Amino acid sequence: MIDILDKKIFKTVSEIADSEGSKAFVIGGYVRDYFLGRPSNDIDIVVEGSGIEIAEKVGQALGSKVSVFKNFGTAMLKYRNSEIEFVGARKESYRANSRKPIVENGTIEDDQKRRDFTINALAFSLNKDTYGCLSDPFGGIKDLQDGLIRTPLDPDTTYSDDPLRMIRAIRFATQLGFEIVPESLDSIKRNRERISILSMERITDELNKIMMSKTPSRGFVLLDETGLLHLMLPQLANLKGVETMEGRGHKDNFSHSLKVLDNVAEKSDDLWLRWAALLHDIGKPSTKKYEPGAGWTFHSHDYIGSKMIPQIFRHLKLPTNEKMKYVQKLVLLHLRPIALVQDEVTDSAIRRLLFDAGDDIDDLMTLCEADITSKNEKIVKKHKKNFALVREKLVSVEAKDRIRNFNPPVSGEIIMETFGIRPGKNVGIIKEAIKNAILDGKIPNEYEAAYRLMLETGEQIGLKPAGKESTGKAPTSEAEECTRSSC
Ligand code: ATP
Ligand code: MG
Repeated sequence: MIDILDKKIFKTVSEIADSEGSKAFVIGGYVRDYFLGRPSNDIDIVVEGSGIEIAEKVGQALGSKVSVFKNFGTAMLKYRNSEIEFVGARKESYRANSRKPIVENGTIEDDQKRRDFTINALAFSLNKDTYGCLSDPFGGIKDLQDGLIRTPLDPDTTYSDDPLRMIRAIRFATQLGFEIVPESLDSIKRNRERISILSMERITDELNKIMMSKTPSRGFVLLDETGLLHLMLPQLANLKGVETMEGRGHKDNFSHSLKVLDNVAEKSDDLWLRWAALLHDIGKPSTKKYEPGAGWTFHSHDYIGSKMIPQIFRHLKLPTNEKMKYVQKLVLLHLRPIALVQDEVTDSAIRRLLFDAGDDIDDLMTLCEADITSKNEKIVKKHKKNFALVREKLVSVEAKDRIRNFNPPVSGEIIMETFGIRPGKNVGIIKEAIKNAILDGKIPNEYEAAYRLMLETGEQIGLKPAGKESTGKAPTSEAEECTRSSC
């Protein structure tokens, strides 16, 4: 007995399918993952007949609500912590200009043929007299053992019918550490232009799964080898290549970016930190220059790179919200910790870094450490030592000056009230002066000192305290000020 089949949900499907005279199977990822020993909660059931009818009866028997998607002929129910999808076995044929197939009812074999890979076409029977019998018409078990991604039909047919399968092949190869069989890889190269009919959302779903794999670089190497990368994300493909001038080359920024991505993936499961790692040098191609004497330079690639992020996120249909801003920020700041250790690590530079990075400082440090991909052990050692020093300083300066979530000790309201002015340029000048004085360590991050500096700066730009005569002394605290104004 297959232990995963000893579950109420499968027993119930079994009874209902028998009483309806339908054949029912659990198929696809759930079966594959059972053989791989990976836990999975997504269950796909295929029945010869109406998936919706069986789903409704199973839902009734289990007391679960069933969601029906009539247009797709599917139904879904949740039971305990599993999501179970029901579909009727289908036979499909495709037309060249669309990924919407002509669908007819079919047998389990028809259905297995339209699956993407042999390892995803495995099915266990659920009918009583064949309960737990494995159906494996395309040698999926052998391919699982050998670690191979292979299509059930001629790859040109499978990939042309639904081009997303080309990206899925690469995604599964990356997630599972499998190889794509050569004829399949060749077919992907041939059919790559077909991805133009896909919606970007579906492509990006797969890309994110590649990103979240243990070694995401593999996926990008395969996307590049097959020519898909150039179609999907040309900006990334443009990082490839090494130019030489006067005998001097620069590093290949594509393989460097992939190495940084893998390094970050070892340390963090955060999808957005991983995107930041992949894209941190995206501004390099457009800023590349050869300067005789100096060699290859990429001035401002951090700034240009961060400016490229919104366009890339919009193109990939990634969210253009605070996640995007986070990626932009890390790309913009990725050189700062390195620049810092090349000079003396002053408190003032540390405060500025803390101010600019805020709560993302730890992620920024993770990215910067991952960015050291030199093969020269001496350089690596030196950088690591310097970064350890920066991390130490970050902790001590933060403990002292609380810059990380910097709130100016004197607010805009206080400035306006003090000088009787409205929002505008002068408020900005005073705020900036206070911020800089604190970051440069000229005054402590405290109300009294900031208040005094506010009065001085105001005077320098020709402002006079409004209403009451100024004593030049700060009100003792903001809290007191509040109580007073509420009286
Ligand atoms: P995971 O859930 O880990 O992403 P999965 O194999 O379960 O992997 P799903 O996208 O959930 O992938 O799909 C479930 C099953 O449906 C697959 O195992 C496969 O049999 C089939 N399938 C999914 N997408 C396609 C597709 N584009 N073409 C053919 N078959 C597909
Ligand atoms: Mg699944």
